[in-house]
Amino acid sequence: MINDPEHKHNYYAATAHPVPVRPALCDDVEFDVAIIGGGFTGVASALSLAERGLSVAIVEAKKVGWGASGRNGGQVLGGWSGEGALIKQLGSRAEEFFWRTRYLGNEIVEKRIEKYQIECDYVHGAATVAFNARQMESLEQEYNECAQHGFGDVLSLADKTALRAHVASDIYLGGLIDRRGAHCHPLNLCLGEAEAAEKLGVQIFEDTRVMSIDHRDRPTVHSAGGSIRAKWVILAGNAYHNLEGKRLGGYMLPAKTYISVTEPLPEEVAKSILPDNLAVCDANWVLDYYRLTPDGRLLFGGKCNYANNDITDIDGAMLPRMRYVFPQLKDIKFEYSWGGIIGIPLNRIPMVGHLSERVLYAQGYSGHGVNCSHIIGEMFADAIENESSIIDPFEDAKHFKVPAKDLIGSPLMALGMSYYRLRDKLGI
Ligand SMILES: Cc1cc2nc3c(=O)[nH]c(=O)nc-3n(C[C@H](O)[C@H](O)[C@H](O)COP(=O)(O)OP(=O)(O)OC[C@H]3O[C@@H](n4cnc5c(N)ncnc54)[C@H](O)[C@@H]3O)c2cc1C
Repeated sequence: MINDPEHKHNYYAATAHPVPVRPALCDDVEFDVAIIGGGFTGVASALSLAERGLSVAIVEAKKVGWGASGRNGGQVLGGWSGEGALIKQLGSRAEEFFWRTRYLGNEIVEKRIEKYQIECDYVHGAATVAFNARQMESLEQEYNECAQHGFGDVLSLADKTALRAHVASDIYLGGLIDRRGAHCHPLNLCLGEAEAAEKLGVQIFEDTRVMSIDHRDRPTVHSAGGSIRAKWVILAGNAYHNLEGKRLGGYMLPAKTYISVTEPLPEEVAKSILPDNLAVCDANWVLDYYRLTPDGRLLFGGKCNYANNDITDIDGAMLPRMRYVFPQLKDIKFEYSWGGIIGIPLNRIPMVGHLSERVLYAQGYSGHGVNCSHIIGEMFADAIENESSIIDPFEDAKHFKVPAKDLIGSPLMALGMSYYRLRDKLGI
């Protein structure tokens, strides 16, 4: 249970499986790999490495799953953010990678759920829904490209009438149904993977903030109470760390986004709005996403706020969005609401690579991290096992830095957000 003000009204924290009390780091110790951050990137990497016999420690500033991994929409979708941008930069090399790994994250998660018996309400089925003709065209194009690459059997296009059988809302023009996509209780997935990692010998230190990384031959991470000297270090703090400012500062601007969860819906209402229990996201740049929980609530996310201002009345902000999609829920109230930070690089390409010879990092999945973090975990384990000097293809991506981010970052994000909202309004 994450006992923290940020998780006071978090449905996942309220329904999390019990976890052991974990120690803080208060000694100088040695491991093969030290991982900073106990979210999906850190935990998935730890599990991949432990499965290969390495000794691993995770150092988490708060609790496992405290960051985005214990707060997200739980949508386990295929593909990566920033695909188009990286293909523009690197061509067929990036394209081949994206097709090869499209559902690899889902596969890794599913195998782990089965192997380690992780209870996290994992259910297949997702849909992307279109508001206008341009979005529908782009879903048709996605379907055609996927079919050409052998994924036609898991996808289907639905026009307005056909979509109504999956999503009981009149506001969409159609959608793309993805039977390989899924949704789950992300905090319980993360906690379950952490428990599996611990059974393989991974040591998890909680309530321990890493203050600095020493990049020598045997890199060392330092906290107030101790240090870990390792052969390799992985920085997996995503949008919640401010380490390595010289190298990483200014590339990734944090966006606040919110989720509200309704009271349990009457069974017939829950069944009527999403009859086959899909996880849905719309095709807007600034999108809404929603799904049912196993106890018949609607979990509704969106209201992404690039200005990085806190919304004080989350329910007040989310209710009109939910009622716009499902007017039939006009009398339904929210019981849980919380916010979290998504790490979004300016070009939306995940930032992954080496900070020095033996220090790796990954961040900035741009709201697409449940599947991708698991692929990165495997890629990191491969890189460490093979002593690779490049994380292909991400390490060759060009990223853009916002100069003097602390001074102009938020206004710039606000401007960017207005641009994307305008594009959504104009349907372009
Ligand atoms: C509201 C919301 C909804 C989202 N919805 C979806 C979705 O439906 N599907 C999807 O695929 N993705 C979604 N995402 C994105 C997804 O949750 C993230 O991409 C993913 O969880 C990132 O995992 P991570 O391990 O890299 O980072 P995190 O889960 O943020 O973990 C980073 C951890 O590092 C710790 N840390 C930071 N600094 C330090 C330090 N100095 N020392 C020690 N520890 C440190 C933090 O405490 C934190 O626990 C959503 C994100 C949010 C916020």
